[in-house]
Amino acid sequence: MDFSPGISYFFGQLDKAFLAPGSHVSLFSLLCAFLIAVLFVAVRRYRKGRRIRPRALLRALFPRRIIGSRSSLADLGYLYFNLFLFGIIFGWALLSYEALSHGVADLLTAAFGPTQPSALPLFVSRTVITVMLFLAYELGYWLNHYLSHRIPFLWEFHKVHHSATVLTPLTNFRVHPIYMCIFLNILAVFTGIANGVGDYIFGQTTHQYGFSENNLILVFFIYLYVHLQHTELWISFTGWLGHLFMSPAHHQIHHSRDPAHFNKNLGSCLALWDWMFGTLYVPAAEPEKLEFGVEPDRPHAHTIRGEFLAPFAAAALLIKQLVEKRSSTVSLPVPEQKRG
Ligand SMILES: [Zn+2]
Ligand SMILES: [Zn+2]
Repeated sequence: MDFSPGISYFFGQLDKAFLAPGSHVSLFSLLCAFLIAVLFVAVRRYRKGRRIRPRALLRALFPRRIIGSRSSLADLGYLYFNLFLFGIIFGWALLSYEALSHGVADLLTAAFGPTQPSALPLFVSRTVITVMLFLAYELGYWLNHYLSHRIPFLWEFHKVHHSATVLTPLTNFRVHPIYMCIFLNILAVFTGIANGVGDYIFGQTTHQYGFSENNLILVFFIYLYVHLQHTELWISFTGWLGHLFMSPAHHQIHHSRDPAHFNKNLGSCLALWDWMFGTLYVPAAEPEKLEFGVEPDRPHAHTIRGEFLAPFAAAALLIKQLVEKRSSTVSLPVPEQKRG
């Protein structure tokens, strides 16, 4: 039996995910996040007048409570699933992006006529397209996340991410494939439209600045703080900074079990869309006491049955109830007309 295709697929996936420097989970960006975390903990200890010893830093960064938890183990299970069984995370199902982009550019040309070649220097056009695509990504992310929290059917699949009771960068992988499919298609629509508008204005040969095919601004934030959003390090942006950027503390608030924090901070790198749409909760400068997870006594939390299969059953039940409710409304006896 020849195992070589399987083996080369396995290493190919590892390579794409962890070694491409612009990937969402590249080892380089994880290392950068680790160094920022070390610096943060060291400064915090220094300010409190404590000694900065490597052992103390490691204990603060990797508490045993988190490393050995069942929640982290389930995160690892999802990493394996999303990377090797379902396909590479964040790189899947962008089927309609190109078609949509061309469609929008053609539509604009039909409506307003062709544009003259841009007189702007190339770096200006490319910068504008890079910013447009980044903002479109963030808006698509926000909308998908908003719908996932507000529509009960979608929440069943997104709940998996929120059932993590401890947060580590691995929690990023804890997403149900159905959530992922919807997310990637919404993203394709938003970024496809933005790219179509960009193509119409600047011409189809003007491309965004990228790093390993990822938007450069997005990659910048991945290196800076996106990994730290799934940690328990209280790095918070307050004031105007907290209205624009989604600090790690912002996202920890999003995972909180406190009803005051439900459905808040739905953005990815930016807090801007949350601020605009009224879902922003700016964290305090000092750590807030938080508990993570949903339904503490949920059966089979952190198992394949509870985290992968149960959402299908729960979502199907919701649909069944909805259909039954509809049909009972339709078949209500029509009240008899009064005679006379
Ligand atoms: Zn959420
Ligand atoms: Zn999260």
